[in-house]
Amino acid sequence: MIGLLILFLVGLLPALSRAEAPASLTDGMALVARGEYDAAVLALYPLAAARPFDAACQYWLGRAYYGQRFYGLAAERLGEAVKRDARDRDACYWYARALRMAGRVEDALLVLPFFLARFPADTELVTEYAAACVMAGRTHDALAALHGLTARDASPALRATVDEWTKALAVRPVAVEPKLARRTVHFELRCDASAWMLRALLDEVDDVREEISAAFGVEMRDFRVIAFLAKGAYETYARAHRGEEAAPAAHAYCLGNTLVVRLPDAWPEQEGARRALAALLRHEMAHLAINLRTGGQGVPLWLHEALACHYGGTAGFATGRIPDPPLAPRELNAAFMSSARGRQETAYAQAHAMAAVLTRALGREKLLALLDALAAGVPLPTAYRDAAGEPFDTFLAEWAQRYAAKP
Ligand SMILES: [Zn+2]
Repeated sequence: MIGLLILFLVGLLPALSRAEAPASLTDGMALVARGEYDAAVLALYPLAAARPFDAACQYWLGRAYYGQRFYGLAAERLGEAVKRDARDRDACYWYARALRMAGRVEDALLVLPFFLARFPADTELVTEYAAACVMAGRTHDALAALHGLTARDASPALRATVDEWTKALAVRPVAVEPKLARRTVHFELRCDASAWMLRALLDEVDDVREEISAAFGVEMRDFRVIAFLAKGAYETYARAHRGEEAAPAAHAYCLGNTLVVRLPDAWPEQEGARRALAALLRHEMAHLAINLRTGGQGVPLWLHEALACHYGGTAGFATGRIPDPPLAPRELNAAFMSSARGRQETAYAQAHAMAAVLTRALGREKLLALLDALAAGVPLPTAYRDAAGEPFDTFLAEWAQRYAAKP
């Protein structure tokens, strides 16, 4: 009886909520449509917490997280939406996409066949399936799915898309890892240099690992470091690994649990090169530690970079000047992703300064509490107010004066 009642309620609640969608749901939907994802999460988070059975609330909060690029958080909410209403095609599509973007490709490939059985002619779902297959290394399955699409729908536009995919897959660079490898209980290191360089690098990484683990209160383990001495090898590997056309401008990056670094020329002979590498490693390992602490979700890009600069190193890329007036968080995120000359440098300079003010105000324990709240999906303004005891807007309005006031 109770089971029946619950079933009945679960069926009824979404129907009820659609009929009388509260104002904040309508507001949140409008904010998502306008691309104002931070504001959308702020509006939708309390609503979704109060109405956990409401598929629409879960769905729109998931879409808002997706817009913020918090794919893990998005997948959780969208999965809830699918559980409440499995006939909702949009919920199925965005759930699978969020899983893939969160790096949970195997999970995406588990649910996608069910969704495709339900919506067999859905071009976006088939394309999503093909994208997941590519990421899992199943290129043949991806091509078969795409050709299945053209067999059903022979429109020129679709044919062109499939041709483009087929060509791109044929010339896709392959991420070849260096063969020389060493493993410790905490990490694996691969390097294209000599055996003695590998040993020197291993010690370097291990020292940084201990320091950064302590700063973020996590034991860093099960990660990998791939180091290249050859510029060309680094660039080819990075393009394939990141699935991007161009090689990254930076000399190091972090993807999932893998840290990829290009060793500075003249390393380890020159002191300057040794310092540059140490700063690079500390910076990227701070990113890695934040990802380990938070499950890689909830921390906005600007805060991620700010903390990596503060606890890690700046490796000379914080040479820019803080923009006047300073950038709002949204603009700051955009600046980090900008390829315009000097734009990233000013973003690093500003984020670095913001981190100095933030860490001074919060101290280590409250800062870690803030990170944990963000990882649970709490919107940043709420999480900051809870940790710091002042509105986030006050911080945004005053950090520059507070930074300047510091001796
Ligand atoms: Zn960084």
